[in-house]
Amino acid sequence: MSARILIVDDVPANVKLLEARLSAEYFDVLTASNGVEALEICARAECDIILLDVMMPDIDGFEVCRRLKSNPATHFIPVVMVTALDSPADRVRGLDAGADDFLTKPVSDVVLIARVRSLTRLKMMTDELRMRAITSLEIGVQAPERSAVADTGKGGRILLVDDRPSSYERLAPVLGAEHTVDVESDPAEALFHAAEGNYDLLIVSLGLDNFDGLRLCSQARSLERTRQVPILAIADADNNTRLLRGLEIGVNDYLLRPVDKNELLARARTQIRKRRYTDHLRDNMQNSIEAAITDALTGLHNRRYMESHLGALAEQASSRGKPLALMMLDIDYFKSINDNYGHDAGDDVLREFAVRVRKSIRGIDLACRYGGEEFVIVMPETDLHVAGMVAERLRRSIAGEPFAVHKGTKRIEVTISIGLSTLEIKGEAVADVLKRADTALYRAKHDGRNRVVSAAA
Ligand code: GH3
Ligand code: MG
Ligand code: MG
Repeated sequence: MSARILIVDDVPANVKLLEARLSAEYFDVLTASNGVEALEICARAECDIILLDVMMPDIDGFEVCRRLKSNPATHFIPVVMVTALDSPADRVRGLDAGADDFLTKPVSDVVLIARVRSLTRLKMMTDELRMRAITSLEIGVQAPERSAVADTGKGGRILLVDDRPSSYERLAPVLGAEHTVDVESDPAEALFHAAEGNYDLLIVSLGLDNFDGLRLCSQARSLERTRQVPILAIADADNNTRLLRGLEIGVNDYLLRPVDKNELLARARTQIRKRRYTDHLRDNMQNSIEAAITDALTGLHNRRYMESHLGALAEQASSRGKPLALMMLDIDYFKSINDNYGHDAGDDVLREFAVRVRKSIRGIDLACRYGGEEFVIVMPETDLHVAGMVAERLRRSIAGEPFAVHKGTKRIEVTISIGLSTLEIKGEAVADVLKRADTALYRAKHDGRNRVVSAAA
């Protein structure tokens, strides 16, 4: 998919020039001639990346960038400042406004395309994560945009890979004012160190003695433990080809020597903010997947998950000609546990019950909380006879050892009733198998509880 790039410049000739170059590389291009128009286009989520002129009448580029980055709805759109001003102070001002990158006028073709490509990759990945994380909003996980907007980018963990004492002795204390910094002066150890250290940012000098800094960057990109850690490269000023190569292999940003202290700090903050934001998105996604299939109280699978998988398990059993057993369990007189000891004690019993269930079953068995104090266990490749033994063992593990409640100050007797059934005919509806287990459970209750009853075949 090709990215949509918004070019913002008050001089039509500048717009045309960039537009022609980007269109030639098959990017979709949108244009705006002032800040207000640009903000409107971004608010409508119509672009993936913005190339933003700094000097414009009315609202200048710094202000447009600041507004985009402080709004949770537009904060994740990468902003590249296109500027004729090229002092470190101007760059710091842009980075502080939240800019992701800079291009200096006149813009070199190669640098333009390399930067836009690398930001496109990052934007696509972030979009994917944001999309998947949207479900987490529905289950009440806080959206990361708010904390991302508030993140100062300080307090990160940085690994500085640099073998020149004159360089790292100057840079480490600068970074140390805002972050925790480790220096690795032996390039051969750097990858190892990076993988072990749980860093938020790697800063790699490309001018290492007898060692190719780009190789290190590329290794860091392919290693699982360091793949997501941003890399800021420090290059000697005459090293343009190597820098472009670096951007291609996944270096996120670079600085030229002599390094300006404020620019170093600003670029480090920007990378660390981004890293935290994508981490947060990734966590959200993980949480929302887990929350969607897990019962929060017991950690067992929830009913929705079981129902969506039971059909597949039954089909598999039918096609392989293997038996499939299903156990329905219900805690006896659970209401009176709540009534006598309180709802929290009831919850303790449910949690401990889940622990004992897990101990009694195999890894391939599927245990889920089916309702309040009702559980279902599905056992592949298990016939009614074996299922009966497992059920009996489980029943005894519950009845045989009182449950601790109220932080262990009280112990109460708990029993369960179990109904069993198996998949009888190939292609039988799983609802029918569940129904027979439920009927058997009803008989177990009726016959006096604390017992296992198998469904009649
Ligand atoms: P039986 O032996 O016939 O199964 O009787 P019972 O009391 O166990 O069954 P009943 O269905 O009458 O009551 C179940 C109770 O479980 C009612 C409900 O308030 C309680 N319950 C459901 N979910 C939870 C929960 O998450 N925590 C706690 N503490 N109680 C729950
Ligand atoms: Mg009950
Ligand atoms: Mg019940």
